[in-house]
Amino acid sequence: MPLPEPFDYTVPDGMDLRVGDHVRAPIGPRIARGVVWALSADDGTRNLKAVDSVYDAPPLSPAMIEFVDWSAKYLVQLPGIMLRNVLRSEDSLHPSPTEILFEATGEEPARLTEARQKVMDVIAGHGPDSAAEIARLAGVTPGVVTGLVKAAGLRRIERPADPPFAAPDPDRPGVDLVPQQAQAADQLKRMLDAGGFQAALLDGVTGSGKTEVYFEAIAHALRSDPDAQILVLLPEIALTQAVTARFIERFGAEPAVWHSDQGHKERRRIWREVNENRARIVIGARSALFLPFQNLRLIVVDEEHDATYKQGDGLHYQARDLAVVRARASKAAIVLASATPSIETLANARAGRYAYIQLPDRIGQAVLPEIATIDLRQNRPARGLWLSDPLVEAMADTLRRGEQVLLYLNRRGYAPLVLCRDCGHRMKSPDVDAYLTEHRYTGQLICHLTGFSMPRPEKCPECGAVDSLTSVGPGVERVAEEARTRFPDANVEILSSDTAHSAEKLLALIGRMERGEIDILVGTQIAAKGHNFPNLTLIGVVDADLGLAGGDPRAGERTYQTLVQVAGRAGRAERPGRALLQTHDPDHEAIAALVAGDRDRFMQAETMAREVLGLPPYGRLAAIILAAKDGHQVDEVAKAWAKRAPDADGVTIWGPAEPRYGMVRGWHRRRFLVRAERDVDVSAYVAAWKSRMKPVASVRVTIDIEPYSFV
Ligand code: ADP
Repeated sequence: MPLPEPFDYTVPDGMDLRVGDHVRAPIGPRIARGVVWALSADDGTRNLKAVDSVYDAPPLSPAMIEFVDWSAKYLVQLPGIMLRNVLRSEDSLHPSPTEILFEATGEEPARLTEARQKVMDVIAGHGPDSAAEIARLAGVTPGVVTGLVKAAGLRRIERPADPPFAAPDPDRPGVDLVPQQAQAADQLKRMLDAGGFQAALLDGVTGSGKTEVYFEAIAHALRSDPDAQILVLLPEIALTQAVTARFIERFGAEPAVWHSDQGHKERRRIWREVNENRARIVIGARSALFLPFQNLRLIVVDEEHDATYKQGDGLHYQARDLAVVRARASKAAIVLASATPSIETLANARAGRYAYIQLPDRIGQAVLPEIATIDLRQNRPARGLWLSDPLVEAMADTLRRGEQVLLYLNRRGYAPLVLCRDCGHRMKSPDVDAYLTEHRYTGQLICHLTGFSMPRPEKCPECGAVDSLTSVGPGVERVAEEARTRFPDANVEILSSDTAHSAEKLLALIGRMERGEIDILVGTQIAAKGHNFPNLTLIGVVDADLGLAGGDPRAGERTYQTLVQVAGRAGRAERPGRALLQTHDPDHEAIAALVAGDRDRFMQAETMAREVLGLPPYGRLAAIILAAKDGHQVDEVAKAWAKRAPDADGVTIWGPAEPRYGMVRGWHRRRFLVRAERDVDVSAYVAAWKSRMKPVASVRVTIDIEPYSFV
């Protein structure tokens, strides 16, 4: 609950409580779940309610309690809100329920009716399952399944619904590390042996074997402490599939895989197994940080630079930064791995706060792709087309050799804007200041911010003109259409969150690409990360300038990182790869540095710019966003906030300003941006400011420490 601090209770006679224990206790008229935050002697002067009952489950570790307290303070959130992210379904505090399954006895059942035969056929092909599921698959009533037990064809088996995870085996042989990998792995092992909080940046180009290096560190942690728990954070669920397979191969056991797409049952299982210290290796998205590890020894944050680590709605947090906090509280080691580390992490490594481990070379014969630009000012595609002649020629060459092409464009749908040629009306989302994106496959216009959708109208809703609506700009669907027209014999497919909306769909697409069944893959961000396509030798970046504009101080860095990631997809096996970047601005710092393969030059320029402007990590930022249904009211409240801002040295306040999306889902928004010197505790400043303001029920206040989004 949104409580500012723990409440006091007495401990009834005969109840044995430890700090961290999960309990039930009265609050107001009801009984609620809670955690024992501290124990102290009762002086008996206060009239306290008593704890109701205690769960028979391991208590939260002291490290977890410290983590919750610290992060609540840092994020300017109530501790109750932070704890809510830790506590999950109450079922996880009880032993696993058992489930009843049915399996074949191997005997011929008596009186084999048609319905019974169907059930026996399903079992033979499918294996044991519940009566309800077998009945569903066989198209019969569950009674037929249970009837077969009497008829001796099936038997009942009972087993835990949440089976434990098999223990990983650190002694299975891994790959033979090349010398640079072995050195890196040794450094990580020494770090683990030293004990206590330790952080390292593992900085290596794509394909340099970083994953194999951190596998060694994981094996070492498991060998030195068989009860050690290890958390591996990945930025995208899309990546967990491939990485999970590698874990199974390396450690001979399935890791626990935690992400928001997992069903309730699997999450209940993982939470319990982690809490009981039985799950050793957890691979997860950012929320895995809040799992109740008991003996966390090592955290790996893969692709640490990835912006998806920043959670941008609900509770705002940067999972990579909180992972460091979690490691510190647990006195554990943390490895941040990336081919394009963030400026923040590089600064920490350069300052010696993190060990700095580099892997400059790719494994084996694989070489980094050659990167070149295509100047769109000189090679302008015809109206309504997006692929320049040089790119089309390179594609033709590649396809002729039987190799694959990836066209990258980080824009879903068909076109980012639909407008009326007659009156100039732009199709906008009804409750946001954003344009609607056209999706041709579904014939819908969709708002990517709110999910609003409508069919593409026949007539302009403004002037009524017929057939006047025209699609402006490209999305992946439109680029795929062009690729199909130009290469009618090629198999062209799209990889975006629309075509790969489930893990299954995504896996299937990636599988087809790996097996060479796709000639041209047109993909968004999802296609950029982690995958290994051995026969992919040409990358065409349709719009390398996309993302460089806008008021985000990390825009240049992010563009650079994405382009490196995309380019890194090419030439992973023995065939050399090539990346062609279509751009209007080949001299832009990010693009020039990419072509020159000079990451350090680029990072240095970016770092200097941040230093001059006092932006992170050379200064601190915090955003305060006020939102109300009533536009007038939000302005009044924003004015009141502006008046009450505390005076402090080294703090500048910008705003209140109307952000780019001044209205979202009918809420009017205003924002303040606080910039502080590095040594100022910006969280404490914002907390002090907030405490001066009387809460207004109809105005939402959101605090975002180190914001990434400025819209
Ligand atoms: P990164 O994480 O740096 O992109 P990976 O660890 O995924 O690199 O390695 C890239 C590819 O090279 C993978 O297919 C991996 O199995 C292979 N690989 C890595 N190290 C070795 C090695 N020492 N010997 C053989 N193959 C290796």
